[in-house]
Amino acid sequence: MMQGLNITKSGENCMGEIYKCCENPQITYFAPVNINIDERTIGTVDVWRCAVCKKKFCEEKQLGIDSITDIVGMPRIEDGEKWGVIVSKLQKGKDKWKLVKLKQSGIIKYETLDEKILELKIEDYKIVDDYHSSFLVEDHLNKAVEI
Ligand SMILES: [Zn+2]
Repeated sequence: MMQGLNITKSGENCMGEIYKCCENPQITYFAPVNINIDERTIGTVDVWRCAVCKKKFCEEKQLGIDSITDIVGMPRIEDGEKWGVIVSKLQKGKDKWKLVKLKQSGIIKYETLDEKILELKIEDYKIVDDYHSSFLVEDHLNKAVEI
């Protein structure tokens, strides 16, 4: 029996959809934030900014690995969210950090290396947890952060 292919044409799922932060985005490179362990840079968060609406966009870069995902346009961030880096005390090296979007308060779902989903509490754009901490990208532009 032949089955029809399930092709989703909904705009929401369309990978090629380009997110626009405003009517006429002018996005330029803004600043890097280096992630250091023992004073060695192991990764970078690249920060881009739209000159029109001033929204910032971030991209996570592990040292020595070219962009893993092919993002068309810039990764989306909602109003009221800020770019942050979550730092895990349970991991080492490049697995110790991850770029995330933090809300002012609430719960963030964080996927661990072994694909467990942790629910971490956020207070004032900061993760409050015994094994995880976080910092905001905007507080460390053009700086290196030791994790
Ligand atoms: Zn814009």
